[in-house]
Amino acid sequence: MAGPQELFDLFIRRVEDYAVYMLDPGGHVVTWNLGAERIKGYTTAEILGKHLSTFYPPEDRHKAAEALRTAAETGHFEGEAWRIRKDGTRFWGLVSLTALRDDAGELKGFAKITRDLTERKRAEEGLRATQLKYELLMAGVKEYAVFFMDTEGRVIDWSPAAERLLGYSQAEILGRHLRTFFPPEQHGPGGTPEVVLKAAAAKGSTEEESWHVRKGGDLFWGSGITSALRDETGRLKGFAKVLLDRTEKKRTEEALRDADRRKDEFLAMLAHELRNPLAPIRSGLDLLRMEGVDSETVEIMSEQVGHVVRLVDDLLDVSRILRNKVDLKRTPVELAEVVRRAAETVRPMTEAEGQAFSVSLPDEPVWLDADPVRLAQVLSNLLTNASKYTEPGGRITLTAERRGGEAVIRVADTGIGIDPDLLPHIFELFTQSERSIDRSQGGLGIGLTVVKSLVEMHGGTVTARSDGPGRGSEFAVRLPTIESPTPAAAGGAPHDPASDALRILVVDDNVPAATLLSRILSKLGGYDVRSAYDGAAALEAAERLRPDLIFLDIGLPKLDGYEVARRLR
Ligand code: ADP
Repeated sequence: MAGPQELFDLFIRRVEDYAVYMLDPGGHVVTWNLGAERIKGYTTAEILGKHLSTFYPPEDRHKAAEALRTAAETGHFEGEAWRIRKDGTRFWGLVSLTALRDDAGELKGFAKITRDLTERKRAEEGLRATQLKYELLMAGVKEYAVFFMDTEGRVIDWSPAAERLLGYSQAEILGRHLRTFFPPEQHGPGGTPEVVLKAAAAKGSTEEESWHVRKGGDLFWGSGITSALRDETGRLKGFAKVLLDRTEKKRTEEALRDADRRKDEFLAMLAHELRNPLAPIRSGLDLLRMEGVDSETVEIMSEQVGHVVRLVDDLLDVSRILRNKVDLKRTPVELAEVVRRAAETVRPMTEAEGQAFSVSLPDEPVWLDADPVRLAQVLSNLLTNASKYTEPGGRITLTAERRGGEAVIRVADTGIGIDPDLLPHIFELFTQSERSIDRSQGGLGIGLTVVKSLVEMHGGTVTARSDGPGRGSEFAVRLPTIESPTPAAAGGAPHDPASDALRILVVDDNVPAATLLSRILSKLGGYDVRSAYDGAAALEAAERLRPDLIFLDIGLPKLDGYEVARRLR
């Protein structure tokens, strides 16, 4: 069995984590262990007799002698430094050198122990670099306030930009809660700071935009990202928050929204104000026509007024749609009926242009739950466009068919077509292709916006396609169909053939409009026509006259048209 000394020698030789070896008094290697071989890369045979300085980087070679001298003089030398392996690579060594003297005090050599601490060194350096980067980041980001919080949401570190944005110095703010930066109404449970911390802890990070408070009470619109910080085991260690002042952007957005709303209101008012005088002008022209006054002039004026009326109606519609003020009066409608009505309105236009206009309807009736007036408006808008954007002599077709639970109505033309760049935007408000200088086609670029909104209000879709300029266009409207209703439900007031001398009451607070309409009706002959100019007068006149027919304006002073109708019933 081996004695203790033998075991000790074995231990020294076999130890792998430490290089343990001996040097002669001159500093030359005389023993070598496994750890030394592993760390420095030399076998025993290679290294015996070599000088200690072999392990020093060239620039430090002279330090080997210094170390030896120190050890010889003081008994010991210790230090940390870069050393060199056989292959030329470096390692960070923790070294100790101990002088060995005999009983007489004569120097016999040195014991040398070296540890490779490269890994620890690297980790430390990494940490220092991280710390440095962190400090640079905190100081460097100028626009973004950055701060750190503990798990409760109390500030533990604060960047210069946070100081600038929020007004508190680091000393003032440490230990204060995130809610310090929010208005008091947000401080309770369910307020933004609490919600933000909870969401960050749950999801890792969360974004929020809201009003924040600076020191002194000023508000600013802050856009922030809050992130949860966790250690390797996943335990929550705190939060980091990055915050940016977006007050300018917020104010700009609000100003834009405000301007947009005022534009919508202005459009609505403009359309309304333009519409009012148009009704009597139109009636006046009708009257002149009936009286046989210079019919050609009247025709031209009527046509032009008709054009203005269409523009104003479009404007009125789009402003109602923009403000969600359109109510559909839905009822079971037969598709063919609506198509016929729309076709009638464009027939004069296609005839004037010498365009071939054909309509193809399904054999079986197709029923829709729709507002017949609005639906006819959709189709006549599409047909009017088809005619407007097709040269004289071109072809326009409307085909309606049933496809499963859908009615598909296609309006196709052989006209100027649509540029592929314009196509994706064609249904947007005020979108128009480039116009010829004379703007002979007129229009405000709102017709298709109205079409799309109305179709969607009916639960349908509308799409446009074109093979490009000069190759015609096709618009397809798809609407959900319903089962055919019972005959009674299908609309259409029964006609009463017995009455031919009707008593008519015209109610409108627009006096010229009421007057002219009354005069036209009288001119048509055989009617007893009276007018009233407000709701109360209308009720009184109705009481007296017992009219067969009432033309009743809705917007009336005193009692509105709805109320008058309700009381009459
Ligand atoms: P408007 O006709 O008043 O300009 P619309 O909203 O009805 O407004 O149409 C928008 C634009 O779409 C038109 O200006 C035109 O450039 C294009 N467009 C619409 N229908 C057609 C069509 N059938 N063929 C070619 N271009 C069309």
